[in-house]
Amino acid sequence: MDHRLSPELEELRRTVEEFAHDVVAPKIGEYYEHHEFPYEIVREMGRMGLFGLPFPEEYGGMGGDYLALGIALEELARVDSSVAITLEAGVSLGAMPVHLFGTEEQKREWLPRLCSGEILGAFGLTEPDGGSDAGATRTTARLDPETGEWVINGTKCFITNSGTDITGLVTVTAVTGRGPDGKPQISSIIVPSGTPGFTVAAPYSKVGWNASDTRELSFADVRVPAANLLGEEGRGYAQFLRILDEGRIAIAALATGLAQGCVDESVKYAKERHAFGRPIGANQAIQFKIADMEMKAHTARLAWRDAASRLVAGEPFKKEAALAKLYSSTIAVDNARDATQVHGGYGFMNEYPVARMWRDSKILEIGEGTSEVQRMLIARELGLVG
Ligand SMILES: Cc1cc2nc3c(=O)[nH]c(=O)nc-3n(C[C@H](O)[C@H](O)[C@H](O)COP(=O)(O)OP(=O)(O)OC[C@H]3O[C@@H](n4cnc5c(N)ncnc54)[C@H](O)[C@@H]3O)c2cc1C
Repeated sequence: MDHRLSPELEELRRTVEEFAHDVVAPKIGEYYEHHEFPYEIVREMGRMGLFGLPFPEEYGGMGGDYLALGIALEELARVDSSVAITLEAGVSLGAMPVHLFGTEEQKREWLPRLCSGEILGAFGLTEPDGGSDAGATRTTARLDPETGEWVINGTKCFITNSGTDITGLVTVTAVTGRGPDGKPQISSIIVPSGTPGFTVAAPYSKVGWNASDTRELSFADVRVPAANLLGEEGRGYAQFLRILDEGRIAIAALATGLAQGCVDESVKYAKERHAFGRPIGANQAIQFKIADMEMKAHTARLAWRDAASRLVAGEPFKKEAALAKLYSSTIAVDNARDATQVHGGYGFMNEYPVARMWRDSKILEIGEGTSEVQRMLIARELGLVG
């Protein structure tokens, strides 16, 4: 197995690396500080085709795959995680459900604009009463026999990309009936932004990812056409398991990027900062800390690329995706803590990128499946059942 990049992927990596350094790095601190969504940067990411990376050209995509998406996410997150999560959620949670499960008509209606970044998509699974236990969904949707419309009621929380000026749709999971065993049947339904009864709350005040959009959504008798059902009725649970399996690889790539960004910043700082008459990087204690950070980032990269390669090859990848997500998010938190330590007091100042990385790292152990959920998945794949 060759983990080196093809010439095309290396070119993509270099292009995104340059964009992250030349366009994102100089501006993102300001957006972050003011908790503003970086429309200008996101528009540019759209023009570069990043939102269309893993989608076919016939729908306006770039004809790439999950490896290409991961490469772009890693390079963005080396510099900033807010823009990286905007891309991750836009692609893996916003557009991918339409691509994987949508009808031809739904794909033609939504994908070209999602791929170009003209609009952003979101995926509303988590509810105030439970995220890990997504089967406990309380949002309901019933088909009105008179109008042929879905009528949706409920609340979703922590939904990324759901309330920006360019958000075009949110796919929500809702209970649409009961199976013969009495268990709730969950379906996914596309709700266009601006549909009457669909309310988007003000952005949350978050610890990190401060230049990304996260909101609570409420649905009060929201009516959408029956044709907005995504895939088959009652298949929503299976659909989001698939979406989350793939999304874990993307989050793992993003976490690897953050971990590598911590190394980049620490190496630079360790050479510049002097203490006791010499650069702090001349001390073995600092050198070993940074060497360990590099080891972790490198290993995380191998893990997410392995999971992505299996996905692209059409092989089983569930366990490898969970391993990559668990490992990369754990070491992203480690590296952010250690990079802050290398920076001393300056590491606690928001103007330094490592302070942002520290704040942005913790959510990686929570979003798109907590570390405990990853361990449950890995144990299940090993045949351990409770
Ligand atoms: C910034 C941000 C963005 C997000 N974006 C989205 C989005 O776009 N779409 C979306 O649908 N969701 C989104 N989420 C939600 C996120 O996926 C959930 O927060 C996450 O899945 C955890 O769910 P929860 O918060 O309900 O925690 P809970 O499920 O209540 O878990 C609480 C704790 O209990 C642990 N736990 C739960 N069950 C078990 C068990 N059986 N064994 C051991 N431990 C257990 C968990 O691991 C965790 O530590 C986002 C969250 C944040 C913070």
